[in-house]
Amino acid sequence: MVTISIDGREFEAEEGQTVLQVAREHGIDIPTLCHHEAIEPYGACRLCIVEITKGRRSRIVTSCLYPVEEGLKVQTKSPRVISNRRMLVELLLARCSKNKVINELASQMGIEKPIVRSEYLEDNDCIVCGLCVRACEQVVGVSAISLVNRGITKEPASPFLEPSRACIGCGSCYYVCPTDAIKMEDKGDTRYIYNWKVEFKLKKCKVCGNYWAPERQLEYIRKKWNLPADFFDICPTCK
Ligand code: SF4
Repeated sequence: MVTISIDGREFEAEEGQTVLQVAREHGIDIPTLCHHEAIEPYGACRLCIVEITKGRRSRIVTSCLYPVEEGLKVQTKSPRVISNRRMLVELLLARCSKNKVINELASQMGIEKPIVRSEYLEDNDCIVCGLCVRACEQVVGVSAISLVNRGITKEPASPFLEPSRACIGCGSCYYVCPTDAIKMEDKGDTRYIYNWKVEFKLKKCKVCGNYWAPERQLEYIRKKWNLPADFFDICPTCK
């Protein structure tokens, strides 16, 4: 165990934990967009920055990636943190000026308009945090999408921007997206994921008749776990 201080309060923490984990365990709020407990941290959105002090030196780090160590002093709301975080949100607002989540974040910080508004920057809901890509790879194990291009044109996409052949339609990318940038819809017996240009037939429950999950996703799970052919004939509600 190590002892660290966050905003002047001392806490015991386990070696290997990150500053963000310890802060959250103790109810200390640090904003994040690209963090998800089931997915390896990546530090993409950088909103979780904190100021750490070791000896006489202090610096800004991303708390989702920074491991605790004995005697570490952490400030989550120092003037330097607030000013840096504010600039990050202003930049996000420049890219996603109509996005509800980003606008709410900006208004909580008293930001009324973006720091820049590039006429070359198409308004977007995606903050390019890559959480969808990491969820697909690490949680689903499919890697149907990736981050493509560079600079302001970087985006998550299916290979060659064609309908993704590897996608199983599970919707994990849609559920983890912090800014609702992934558009998914279940209509009748079909699921559409517009970002990856794919559609999937949904399985109909033999008891209630509801369409409840993509057939391709269920087949993927059935094969992976060697389940009987009729295992998914009945939906979880009716089982
Ligand atoms: S819906 Fe497709 S792209 Fe999204 S996580 Fe599932 S397999 Fe990956």
